[in-house]
Amino acid sequence: MKGSIATVTAGVRKLHVKSYGCQMNVYDSHRMTDLLAREGYAEACPEDADLIILNTCHIREKAAEKVYSELGRIRKLKDAAAREGRNLTVAVAGCVAQAEGEEIVRRAPLVDLVVGPQSYHRLPELLAEAADGTKVVATDFPAEDKFDHLAPASNAAIRGRGVTAFVTVQEGCDKFCTFCVVPYTRGAEVSRPVGKIVAEVERLADAGVREVTLIGQNVNAYHGDGPDGRPWTLGRLLERAAEVPGIARLRYTTSHPGDMDESLIAAHRDLPALMPFLHLPVQSGSDRLLDAMNRRHTRAEYLRTIEQVRAARPDMAFSTDFIVGFPGETEDEFRATLSLVEEVGFASAFSFKYSPRPGTPAAEMAEQLPEEVKSERLQRLQRLIDGHQAAFNAGSLGRTFEVLFEKPGRHPGQIVGRSPYLQPVQVMASSTLVGEIRSVTITEIAPNSLFGTLTAEPSRVSDRVLLEAGG
Ligand code: SAM
Ligand code: SF4
Repeated sequence: MKGSIATVTAGVRKLHVKSYGCQMNVYDSHRMTDLLAREGYAEACPEDADLIILNTCHIREKAAEKVYSELGRIRKLKDAAAREGRNLTVAVAGCVAQAEGEEIVRRAPLVDLVVGPQSYHRLPELLAEAADGTKVVATDFPAEDKFDHLAPASNAAIRGRGVTAFVTVQEGCDKFCTFCVVPYTRGAEVSRPVGKIVAEVERLADAGVREVTLIGQNVNAYHGDGPDGRPWTLGRLLERAAEVPGIARLRYTTSHPGDMDESLIAAHRDLPALMPFLHLPVQSGSDRLLDAMNRRHTRAEYLRTIEQVRAARPDMAFSTDFIVGFPGETEDEFRATLSLVEEVGFASAFSFKYSPRPGTPAAEMAEQLPEEVKSERLQRLQRLIDGHQAAFNAGSLGRTFEVLFEKPGRHPGQIVGRSPYLQPVQVMASSTLVGEIRSVTITEIAPNSLFGTLTAEPSRVSDRVLLEAGG
């Protein structure tokens, strides 16, 4: 997945944060940036920075290797800074930091500070410790709540990040799928209290955010304390978030199929602000593999959940994650995955080659599959998924969607927004519409985006004409 840059706006020291991997990391990068803004750090490109933080992902081997090659490039920047008489401090944060700890400093001695995802609220004091050249490694799971120590984003920082935002509501995972490092790098499941989440959503809305995605490694296992002192479900939390003035759209990710409870399904029925698009990772279509992965549900149970959500909200579309080439996966078991794609008709999906992660049970399993088998299966799966995605997009032609406009487009006079299904939609219209939701009729489909024109909202106009005519 692509890296992204987090920014701050004012101060004397210069900071560059590069984020890898999931939305949780994007959120954490913003929190680190907000925290360090209070310490006087301002945005900078890597070449000018006094502090570079790589906020890393450890989910697959490639993700970790990318960090080491980036550190190779940063080595040159550190040397150049030293020649200019400046000190460039290098910090590695995130899940690679948690998983590899001191090994990072051994393998890449330019790194001054290693900080895990549960300790980054301590960055100011850790940077002070590292200031005299001491190598600092902070990968414990502190007892205090990190969120209590983080700085809220300023209105200017929120506005700079656009009209959509992530809010972490839950962290960690207790599911222990046999392929996954998350329970080891992010720790046990913890949910933030409802009041604090709502306050954060209100602050975002006040600064102009229109769409909030509630995020967590296992977001629908949410069970934070409500104002009534009892644990609330994600469904109830969404209901409360939908009441925040200014918030027009809600999403949540990433969910586990086993935690799609009644209140969440009801939220899809009852909350117009909850977008009709759900990312629900399944990983495999084979019951034997689902069991070997410790996914705790069968193919039939997954399909039943999809049906229940569709019954609650008939215009629902789904995306998912697949792993191909899990240890021992046979050709027939792989075909069961292909047939699940056909059966559900996903609007989009991510698919990955199984990557053995040190310390996870699947990495120790016999029958690890050869790379060629994994690659060949991945290609077949991706071809099938691409076909389904193209068909889903083609089905949008001529339809009218509500689009939330996010930013100016690539071409002059163009703006870009998202449909309820997260499809990018390009429209020729004034950039003053950024932050607004408008009806758009889709007139053209390109491989990865839709083109459309603002709709004159005919139904509402004709309603008014009828009313004015006394109809
Ligand atoms: N919590 C989510 C769930 O229940 O599936 C998944 C979160 S994980 C950060 C995102 C995706 O990475 C997973 O859905 C899985 O497809 C993929 N993934 C995780 N571990 C992997 C591994 N060892 N090899 C390949 N892909 C992996
Ligand atoms: Fe990893 Fe998701 Fe399984 Fe948790 S539920 S162990 S985060 S794949």
